[in-house]
Amino acid sequence: MKNRAPYYHQIGKEVEVFEHAYKNKIPFLLKGPTGTGKSRFIEYMAHKLDKKLITISCHEETSSTDLVGRYIIKGAETIWSDGPLTNAIKEGAIIYLDEIAEARPDVIVAIHSLTDHRRELFIDKLGKTVKAHEDFMLVASFNPGYQKGFKELKPSTRQRFIATAFAYPEAKIEAAILVNETNVDKDIAKKLVNIATKIRNLTELGLAETVSTRLLVDAAKLIHSGLPKRLAVEVAIVEPLTDDLDVVEALKDLCNLMI
Ligand code: ADP
Repeated sequence: MKNRAPYYHQIGKEVEVFEHAYKNKIPFLLKGPTGTGKSRFIEYMAHKLDKKLITISCHEETSSTDLVGRYIIKGAETIWSDGPLTNAIKEGAIIYLDEIAEARPDVIVAIHSLTDHRRELFIDKLGKTVKAHEDFMLVASFNPGYQKGFKELKPSTRQRFIATAFAYPEAKIEAAILVNETNVDKDIAKKLVNIATKIRNLTELGLAETVSTRLLVDAAKLIHSGLPKRLAVEVAIVEPLTDDLDVVEALKDLCNLMI
């Protein structure tokens, strides 16, 4: 029996688009800042399509070996061990490469032949090519932050995917998400979303990333479990955003007036 579906509130037409991408096995790129529901969306879609989901959180040390596989020593023997990408290809799972631009360049090279008509993976250490299972699908996410510190994804790689942009939902929907996720009072949810909207519009603060839905969910959880509102907002929204003491003070003052 299927587990319960993860809660996901659709924002646009992304569910329909994903279903068609899956039918046609076109690689799918989720673009957007952190905490905008990308991972939740893919969990929801995997459940809806009844497919296994294998998620890899890419970071600067993630190499193609981590994804494809490696020889390991077991007792006196050296044996080959498939990595998560190879497993997904063989089993027909959906693989989700979260923050793909963070990974080492050889990861991008390794997935190229999976993203076109070939749908195959060359395992150089085995000198073998593995054809992808019919149900296999490649999904990746990418944070197109324009600030320093974010890595770019080359056009030649981007154009191997269809792409959907994720952003912060409109206020009503975001408040509904908070209530659904945390059971917080509707009125508090609205106030938290108002705070987020206000801070998101303060572009002059020069924050690398602004208030995500994830931060609001955390604040709502703390409030729902009984932490005083102002303290919850300070630790869940203000402090994670910046270390600049003047900005922290200014944001605290602003939030105190709004919660
Ligand atoms: P990302 O992968 O974009 O960094 P997540 O998918 O982890 O973000 O989302 C962070 C949190 O925000 C989720 O755990 C969930 O509580 C909430 N969330 C964001 N968008 C949605 C949405 N559309 N529907 C349901 N929950 C959402």
